[in-house]
Amino acid sequence: MIIIMEKGATDENIQKVCTRLEENGFQIRVNRGELLTVIDALGDKSSVSEDRLLALDGVKEVKHIREPFRLASRDRKPDDTVITFPNGVSIGGNKSVVTIAGPCSVENYEGLIEVAHAVKEAGCEFLRGGAFKPRTSPYAFQGYGEEALKFLKRAGDETGLLTVTEVMDAQDIELVANYVDVLQVGARNAQNFKLLKALGKINKPIILKRGLSSTITEFLLAAEHILYNGNPNVILCERGIRSFDSHYTRNVADIASIPVIKKLSHLPVIIDPSHATGQRYLVEPVAKAGIIVGADGVMIEVHHNPETALSDGNQSLSIPMFKNVMNNVSSLKNKICYNKETFCADMN
Ligand code: PEP
Ligand code: MN
Repeated sequence: MIIIMEKGATDENIQKVCTRLEENGFQIRVNRGELLTVIDALGDKSSVSEDRLLALDGVKEVKHIREPFRLASRDRKPDDTVITFPNGVSIGGNKSVVTIAGPCSVENYEGLIEVAHAVKEAGCEFLRGGAFKPRTSPYAFQGYGEEALKFLKRAGDETGLLTVTEVMDAQDIELVANYVDVLQVGARNAQNFKLLKALGKINKPIILKRGLSSTITEFLLAAEHILYNGNPNVILCERGIRSFDSHYTRNVADIASIPVIKKLSHLPVIIDPSHATGQRYLVEPVAKAGIIVGADGVMIEVHHNPETALSDGNQSLSIPMFKNVMNNVSSLKNKICYNKETFCADMN
């Protein structure tokens, strides 16, 4: 349950409620928001009556959380989670739309640094690139592992871009976290609970992709595993889901999931139009659609020579195409402003 304190509640009022809850075996978290303080209480509801809590000074409301994803829920934490990196870049709260771009896989340093300089120049904040690749076939390129992580770190240091890469196995977390700023959980691992739990124990932000066939509830419960294990910095990534028609699009870009998640959860949400569609020409329209319905960021695959890419060449943009998409997306961003009441952007 959550206890919402009155606007003018004093520290003493808050402390008293906390003590009462703790005496009754609740695990509590106090969220001091701009307007309100909300006390988050996990425990056995039957051990303390709602009336007794309401009788305490400064208590405005006692609400019972219905969603199973308790920590990810907006009921429990009304204010948006904003993740701020040491270089000042932040993601969340619809403050700005960040861009994460780079190749599907890190293939060599020359190609990576060429893309890194281009995406930096185009205004991106993050460089992505896979070192450990989850491939459907064991015969497909599996990624260059630690060597690729070293390239990513070097390119990040050289350009000042923050770096993102996927971690597939709990055993690799420490290694990957040594090289990059953000760890990604891929769609195929969205319900690898051992991995999610282990990522809860580190303090680097996590990009969690939606599973190939995850419902929104399953997606938020996957995030819940990371939050419950202690890491509050989770960024949700809508990357499309499987459906019956993959003839023209690789997946179905579930654009509506973004406002649904914004309503249900305080966590930042980004859109990945590359994996959601699998087609170069659909990257710009789906990126724009995601931004209009409130995405806090966009993840796009870019390759120095898509025709030779070792993975996802079809959906990867060339550098000139990417610059063009970024220009068009930036001019859209400058014309709109996200409205938290309607869950979509209005014209400026
Ligand atoms: C990727 O980002 O390259 C990737 C494999 O994505 P997903 O897990 O969404 O398929
Ligand atoms: Mn890819």
